[in-house]
Amino acid sequence: MTAQLTKRRKTKPKEMAVITDCCTGCAGSPVCQTLCPVENCMQLIHDDEHSPFGYIWVDPLKCIGCKKCIAKGDMGIFLEGCPWDAIKMTPLERVEQMYGKLEF
Ligand code: SF4
Ligand code: SF4
Repeated sequence: MTAQLTKRRKTKPKEMAVITDCCTGCAGSPVCQTLCPVENCMQLIHDDEHSPFGYIWVDPLKCIGCKKCIAKGDMGIFLEGCPWDAIKMTPLERVEQMYGKLEF
């Protein structure tokens, strides 16, 4: 329990990444997971409605709102992050409407 808590962020971000229905699971090798600096923040969930590769779920207790998962390339044009534009930075208030009041 203690180990889990120490991995949590110190403060809540103003906005967090939320994954939309556009997520394809990147054929089982999610690009976004390679960009996120927080361990187990972006988790690949397998389910029948998103077969065969499932979808990504962002743990709202871990996301630090750094936006690395939606980073743009050198020209500011090409997306280095999600190729399907399935990641939306979402205000904290909205995320807490989805999940309830979040702990730190
Ligand atoms: S905003 Fe940062 S911490 Fe949150 S899911 Fe994206 S890369 Fe991970
Ligand atoms: S990069 Fe986008 S489409 Fe691929 S797994 Fe992540 S959120 Fe889903």
